[in-house]
Amino acid sequence: MRLLALNNSYAQLPERFFAHTDPKPVSEPRLIRFNRPLAEELGLDADQLTSPDGLDMLSGHRFPEGLQAIALAYAGHQFGNFVPQLGDGRALLLGEVVDVNDIRRDIQLKGSGPTRFSRNGDGRAAVGPVLREYVVSEAMAALGIPTTRALAAVLTGDPVYREVRLPGAVLTRVAASHIRIGTFQYFAARHDTGGLKILADYAIERHFPQLVGQARPYRALLEAVVAAQADLVARWMLVGFIHGVMNTDNMTISGETIDYGPCAFVDAYDPSAVFSSIDRVGRYAYANQPHVATWNLARFAETLLPLMSTDESEAVSQAEEVLGSFQSSYETVLQRGFRRKLGLLTEAEGDLQLAADFLDVLARSEADFTLAFRRLGDDLAAPDDQGGARQLFEDPGAFDIWSARWRQRIASDAADTAARRAVMHAVNPKFIPRNHRIEAMIQAALGGDFTPFEEILRVISRPFDEQPEMERYADPPRPDERVLKTFC
Ligand code: AMP
Ligand code: MG
Ligand code: MG
Repeated sequence: MRLLALNNSYAQLPERFFAHTDPKPVSEPRLIRFNRPLAEELGLDADQLTSPDGLDMLSGHRFPEGLQAIALAYAGHQFGNFVPQLGDGRALLLGEVVDVNDIRRDIQLKGSGPTRFSRNGDGRAAVGPVLREYVVSEAMAALGIPTTRALAAVLTGDPVYREVRLPGAVLTRVAASHIRIGTFQYFAARHDTGGLKILADYAIERHFPQLVGQARPYRALLEAVVAAQADLVARWMLVGFIHGVMNTDNMTISGETIDYGPCAFVDAYDPSAVFSSIDRVGRYAYANQPHVATWNLARFAETLLPLMSTDESEAVSQAEEVLGSFQSSYETVLQRGFRRKLGLLTEAEGDLQLAADFLDVLARSEADFTLAFRRLGDDLAAPDDQGGARQLFEDPGAFDIWSARWRQRIASDAADTAARRAVMHAVNPKFIPRNHRIEAMIQAALGGDFTPFEEILRVISRPFDEQPEMERYADPPRPDERVLKTFC
């Protein structure tokens, strides 16, 4: 069977970068969902992939002849503690395809069984987290935020045990690559400068080909990764996304969001919001994400020091200089984003303060982040005190004071209301994958009903459009529906 025109450039790297891994039989592969538009973008044959042979592959049960899957080696700081060997403990890289835009993308199975890197884990994934990753990663893509994608979700027919017995599943994940900060740390921890150089050169060629041949390529690589992650985290902040596990092994060199575990979108706004059950001290709280990103990038920079210069103090000063650029890259994206969210079509001093003050007012009333921004756009033509946004605030007085300033500020732009609303509605989603909807979707799936999964996917694939028949998906949770903790 010839299922995929896969090659695998990563498997051409030295043996110590990965472990060849055989497929593991499963009882009964059954397709939950296949992402046809994505398959098309990748130039893959959807019919073949959803055939029995295709499902054998996508469940990790049996691979086509010639396919040599690999588990990738990496290390990482988990909640600040360095672990010199993590690696793909439940994932396998099947290979790569070059997509219709000429971009090389990884095709990876997640939940496909034990590997050399499994440590005490079973190598498996339960259906709940697989569906959550499917929905949230596709939502992020629809929101225009760099992310890994979901190509397929397949039931294995085997149980997995996580306190309780759950149906096992495998996600097929697509990524620009699976190189992480932790991949660099793996070689740095082994003082394997040769391996580091090979990895850095590979990453440059694959993700930043414009840097090939630069006078200081590794400094340029650091610059590019700092810029990519600053951009990414700013985009998360603009939609209220909380990653939940920003360990260095979960931050990609490409700048794509990866590893949707206990992630969440903030609803009742609180800058210190944490949902992850494993994040006890709020290390990865909403407002902490840019700080964590810079901490992670400093760990990345450390791995590059021996490549940047043979003179260590020279290398350190270069790295510090580059790391210092995070803040301005981050703020540029954040400011541009908040201006659009507030419908400010020109730039004026004080715009960022106006946005910060809105967030303060939101926090004081614990108003819904997504709805509040969306309704500002809806309210443009409404009289000052009668818009829908105001209804969201326990303390409408504070909103009124802020709103008067905002209206004064937008009056100084020449744009007409319709144009302004269009700008706002193109960046303020009406629909996000709300935590309580995800929970309900998972509960239904555990009972064998995948209709809520299909429904939520349909809704979040058009996050900025009005979908009157789906209005309920825009609603915040009722008090008894609120999700306070998420689990991976
Ligand atoms: P994560 O918290 O998802 O980023 O995973 C951290 C590390 O634990 C990675 O090396 C994973 O491959 C590994 N891991 C997570 N879950 C499992 C599992 N069920 N079996 C084996 N390894 C796992
Ligand atoms: Mg991970
Ligand atoms: Mg994970």
